[in-house]
Amino acid sequence: QILGTLNSSSGAATSVARAFCSSTTPITATLFPGDGIGPEIAESVKQVFTTAGVPIDWEEHYVGTEIDPRTQSFLTWESLESVRRNKVGLKGPMATPIGKGHRSLNLTLRKELNLYANVRPCYSLPGYKTRYDDVNLITIRENTEGEYSGLEHQVVRGVVESLKIITRQASLRVAEYAFHYAKTHGRERVSAIHKANIMQKTDGLFLKCCREVAEKYPEITYEEVVIDNCCMMLVKNPALFDVLVMPNLYGDIISDLCAGLVGGLGLTPSCNIGEDGVALAEAVHGSAPDIAGKNLANPTALLLSGVMMLRHLKLNEQAEQIHSAIINTIAEGKYRTADLGGSSTTTEFTKAICDHL
Ligand code: NAD
Repeated sequence: QILGTLNSSSGAATSVARAFCSSTTPITATLFPGDGIGPEIAESVKQVFTTAGVPIDWEEHYVGTEIDPRTQSFLTWESLESVRRNKVGLKGPMATPIGKGHRSLNLTLRKELNLYANVRPCYSLPGYKTRYDDVNLITIRENTEGEYSGLEHQVVRGVVESLKIITRQASLRVAEYAFHYAKTHGRERVSAIHKANIMQKTDGLFLKCCREVAEKYPEITYEEVVIDNCCMMLVKNPALFDVLVMPNLYGDIISDLCAGLVGGLGLTPSCNIGEDGVALAEAVHGSAPDIAGKNLANPTALLLSGVMMLRHLKLNEQAEQIHSAIINTIAEGKYRTADLGGSSTTTEFTKAICDHL
């Protein structure tokens, strides 16, 4: 239920999913194993999906070693075309050099595929104790603009400028997605997260758009929360929140905070939604270079992202089966990866999930 069917306000995703459902042949989905721990956790997903009998053929694409002039990044044009054609995919983390270097691969994907909303569910796992046992919230992050517009330059030596872009079109689109999501998933409240007291023009416009959309959904309670206060409230009592919608950078930060409430980045999934029915699921976490290649990574976040992808495809039975196997394995406590206080390797944990299917 929490990782419920994703929706598109254009309805395109629904028709894509229907077309998939009526098909008797396996569905082709793009898979980007990605960098760092990516290939290890992607292997885990492939094993679990195969064991569960999920009718998916993976079309695997790796990050290139040279810049493709057609994408201006290490992502090849062919890999983007694969997602456009299949309309559905799963993505491992992709590393971005800090403060220098090539265009971010994640930004390239979001821009080129117009992945405008990033849906990040975060909930307490039954059987895995943290300070809270009642976290159940959805962060919806605007995914195409804000501080991530890539518009940075040096004004004069010692002075740099970075532009935050907020448009009415992108703000309305993500707000509409958030309210529609709340309505179709039995959620009661949407909180718009902002810093409009300081960013009066940019966050001010974002809020104005959220208010406009809120008027179309009188059954959903709407509230506005300043981001610093939101952080305090989340840490003090996360049950205060239901669906949160916010500009790009805030969504990036808040969703890591939320991951910390339920046990860490090894657990939290997401799915990127595009206007033309494209859905590209990915874990919230990055490439974890500190543990890459050591068979230590927790594949849960990518597996749960895969579950979101299955729900998008209306493969609900398999989604439920895999979801239960993950939850039961963690709850049982015999096999857990190091981030959850256990001593299992990625491979052992994956095998335990397969045994629970
Ligand atoms: P990170 O999320 O990769 O790692 C943060 C911490 O969480 C590390 O200690 C790591 O070991 C741990 N961790 C993350 N995922 C885990 C998992 N599945 N199992 C166990 N432990 C896990 O963040 P970072 O170190 O700041 O970033 C590393 C690289 O990833 C950077 O290049 C960054 O740009 C990139 N990144 C990519 C994405 C993406 O592809 N969507 C998202 C975030 C960061």
